[in-house]
Amino acid sequence: MDVAELAARWAALNPELADRLSRAVVLIEPSTMARDVYYVRGAETPHTVVVDRTAKASTCTCADHKYRGVRCKHRLAVALSEVAKRKVKKAA
Ligand SMILES: [Zn+2]
Repeated sequence: MDVAELAARWAALNPELADRLSRAVVLIEPSTMARDVYYVRGAETPHTVVVDRTAKASTCTCADHKYRGVRCKHRLAVALSEVAKRKVKKAA
């Protein structure tokens, strides 16, 4: 399963996230991924998502997350990417 397929599934389960999920799909740049830190392209500026695996949480440097406290498209992009990677590993 690739990221786009996964995004479509999540959107079906969470219609309120559908719009942001569709934008999240194009954001991830695999070549820039470090272990727990992702550099995600934004419309204008790239944002940094840091994954805290112990707390099963992530933070983002964008205003949506920092000031509005919503699940931003950058964190959705990272979550999609992580789940898709796990599914690939399981299938292998
Ligand atoms: Zn963000």
